[in-house]
Amino acid sequence: MRETLCLDCEHPWEEHRGSAFKGPAACGECQYEEDHGQQVPGREKCWNSVPHALFVRPTARELERAAPLHRKVLLRFGRLMVAVLHLVVRWP
Ligand SMILES: [Zn+2]
Ligand SMILES: [Zn+2]
Repeated sequence: MRETLCLDCEHPWEEHRGSAFKGPAACGECQYEEDHGQQVPGREKCWNSVPHALFVRPTARELERAAPLHRKVLLRFGRLMVAVLHLVVRWP
């Protein structure tokens, strides 16, 4: 999932038709609000289904862009471990 919220009703896409979750035809959250009389005024029950594009896997380029951050975190964690080791070694 690349976008987590439906633009129309601002509920998670997981609650919408077409997601892995076999929900009702209408948005599950909207249905729930209707059942419990909690509808947000001015908002209609949402019948959107999950846009297919949201299921498209990230491209290699997008993965590449995400990788450096992951590596940075690993590096930082490694330095922290080294610092902790030094501290332990110096302990009397
Ligand atoms: Zn919706
Ligand atoms: Zn909804």
